[in-house]
Amino acid sequence: MSELAYPYEAPASQALFDRAAAVTPGGVNSPVRAFRAVGGTPRFMVSGSGPYLTDADGREYVDLVCSWGPMILGHAHPEVIAAVQEAVARGTSFGTPAEGEVALAEAMVERVAPLEEVRLVSSGTEATMSAIRLARGFTQRTKVIKFAGCYHGHVDSLLAAAGSGVATFALPDTPGVTGAQASDTIVLPYNDLEAVHAAFAAHPGEIACVITEASPGNMGVVPPLPGFNQGLKDACAANGALFVSDEVMTGFRTSRAGWYGVEGVVPDLMTFGKVMGGGFPAAAFGGRADVMAHLAPAGPVYQAGTLSGNPVATAAGLAQLRLLDDAAYEKVDAVSAQIQGLVTEALAKEGVAHRVQTASNMFSVFFTDRPVVNYEDAKAQESFRFTAFFHSLLSSGVYLPPSSFESWFVSTAHDERAVQRIADALPAAARAAAEATA
Ligand code: PLP
Repeated sequence: MSELAYPYEAPASQALFDRAAAVTPGGVNSPVRAFRAVGGTPRFMVSGSGPYLTDADGREYVDLVCSWGPMILGHAHPEVIAAVQEAVARGTSFGTPAEGEVALAEAMVERVAPLEEVRLVSSGTEATMSAIRLARGFTQRTKVIKFAGCYHGHVDSLLAAAGSGVATFALPDTPGVTGAQASDTIVLPYNDLEAVHAAFAAHPGEIACVITEASPGNMGVVPPLPGFNQGLKDACAANGALFVSDEVMTGFRTSRAGWYGVEGVVPDLMTFGKVMGGGFPAAAFGGRADVMAHLAPAGPVYQAGTLSGNPVATAAGLAQLRLLDDAAYEKVDAVSAQIQGLVTEALAKEGVAHRVQTASNMFSVFFTDRPVVNYEDAKAQESFRFTAFFHSLLSSGVYLPPSSFESWFVSTAHDERAVQRIADALPAAARAAAEATA
């Protein structure tokens, strides 16, 4: 690891981390936050404003994580905050139906054509778990195809060869997941349609659904090759299985209608989270009305939630979606392209082998000179260069995801000043990456 690895202390964050470690496993409530892949002290943030986060030591960072996607308008957007304050003042949870959840569902259905009906839940994990249960209930089949490197939350059956934190920590099969759950999951290499056809041939009448990230961002950004998602859809249709497109990360981010809006492949079921919650715990699954009709209380497949459709979360999500017009997406796309260009320029100047891969405004940097089309390719990158790059940027006030297996996210609030801070920080970071050793 280079000299730059931990260039300065973060005493207030360290003190909080020590306190946290005494009462919380590993000191965090979600593993990637712990900085284990890159080392050093995780920064405890105390506030966010626009493109910036401020940590407990009073240092300001340009945020390229955006809460792992949701904060597409930047932090503390005044109109989202106003909507939340207005909702909070009317009460925080009713445990009854309320208009906000109808309005959010209507806004989602209006934007995403294949979404005929939608059910709100509280996390992306809940959304994918429920979609899989529904697919099994609808088809009366048990097996599920997923792809190595795709992450769909910590659903038992979907943790096999998952991306995100599971990739970051190189976890093998997770203890606590039963053999039965694991054996009902067929894990295939991403972007490999032949493997999908072979799996259908090997398990006739057994596969309930294929679930895929609409465009994966949890092994770094690895977009589908042309025709891959359509091939999945066709294979499912030909074999009586459902095609489940996980848009938790891409939904309402990669375009007004998410990745569906980019590619136009029509799934049977879709899952959402992140952007639709405006920074609150709101997520959803939905799709074909005839499939959704199998869900309780309309049908026999049970699914429920005390805080589902929470009035504060739906107010935040609705306010955010209403602000996400075409101009907003143009802005996010433009700033994303600008930052991608700066990263490429800085790394090329130092002769660092790298690839910036994109899916609309989502992007990530792989330290390799070969195209990354699946998880094996992603794992073959020189991650030690990322560690040096990450810490150099952190020391210059730029906050990247603390893992090379994650997408970077920008927002409409990333203005010229924020981009300039990144541009100023990149030459040293590229040098650190060039000098890094395994
Ligand atoms: N699906 C995808 C594609 C995700 O990226 C994530 C989270 O990063 C999830 C599902 C799980 O969502 P949550 O963390 O809200 O449970």
